[in-house]
Amino acid sequence: MFLDRDGTLHVERDFCRTPSEVAVFPAVPAALRSLRDAGYRIVVVTNQSGVARGFLDETALARIHDEIQRQVGGVIDAFFHCPHLPEGSAGPVVGAYVRRCPCRKPGNGLLRDAIDLLDLATRGSWVVGDSARDLLAARDFPIGRVLVRSGKPVEPSLEELSAAHCEPDAVVDDLEAAVRFVLGSGPTPRQDDARAISAPRA
Ligand SMILES: [Mg+2]
Ligand SMILES: [Zn+2]
Repeated sequence: MFLDRDGTLHVERDFCRTPSEVAVFPAVPAALRSLRDAGYRIVVVTNQSGVARGFLDETALARIHDEIQRQVGGVIDAFFHCPHLPEGSAGPVVGAYVRRCPCRKPGNGLLRDAIDLLDLATRGSWVVGDSARDLLAARDFPIGRVLVRSGKPVEPSLEELSAAHCEPDAVVDDLEAAVRFVLGSGPTPRQDDARAISAPRA
């Protein structure tokens, strides 16, 4: 199970910079526990361009992830983040992090890293996020897609996903509803899709 972070696990805000700004949604810990009980491994995949923008460093980001882990009761298996920003982005930046990278969603580098490093199965897995890029990052894999309304407005994302022929399998209020959908839905819609194995690396 691949989960977006901001707006999916916790309240969306413009760049979380310290652990005190983390507010995990109340229903999330129990929802994640039921996922774990059903045998899913839980991996957070998150764009954190605040690092490239100089809002926080990787140590502060690790502390924020420790705090999320604390608030959810320690059930997250791993966090994978992209600290980068593409060239040409507006505003002040930390040069070392400015580059075109394969990991920034909608790129699929974070999912590939997670799948490789943790030896995860993709068939039968799902991605849950509040934005089009979260779901687009999973489009090369046989992974189900759920969009949640608990973060950014979903209407622009729905338009973007439709244009990209990457429609969600469900649009639900929040992660709790997403977990209910996933646990009740049986095989994912792309069980027989074999693209994942042959897809070229980004
Ligand atoms: Mg998000
Ligand atoms: Zn990156």
